[in-house]
Amino acid sequence: MTDKLELSDAEWRQRLSPEAHAVLRREGTERAWTSTLYEEHRKGTFICAGCGAPLFTSEMKFDSGTGWPSFFATLPGAFETRRDWKLFMPRTEYHCARCGGHHGHVFDDGPAPTGQRWCNNGVALRFVPEREAS
Ligand SMILES: [Zn+2]
Repeated sequence: MTDKLELSDAEWRQRLSPEAHAVLRREGTERAWTSTLYEEHRKGTFICAGCGAPLFTSEMKFDSGTGWPSFFATLPGAFETRRDWKLFMPRTEYHCARCGGHHGHVFDDGPAPTGQRWCNNGVALRFVPEREAS
């Protein structure tokens, strides 16, 4: 994915809901249990709400019990990561490789086979059911 999407903050504000802007462009965190995608169990693909890049498939999703949509793997090259010391403990922040939008944090207490838990803000995602995918 080399076609990076770079927009001004004003352009992002036009494109995104206030909630999505707070997460994607300001590294905010939505309240747990607020995302309808938490209970999304259909087959399909989760794409970036900022730029439409495919990030996860429904096969990568698991019920983490945290209140945020969670995944044990990502599509190859979907994200870039960065250490984040905001809570005085290192966490690994990840953001969309295409538009740089913040999505969540990755932890090492996920299920097999990867042991990873990609804890994603639902508002940063859109779900495309398999039937509608082109
Ligand atoms: Zn994106």
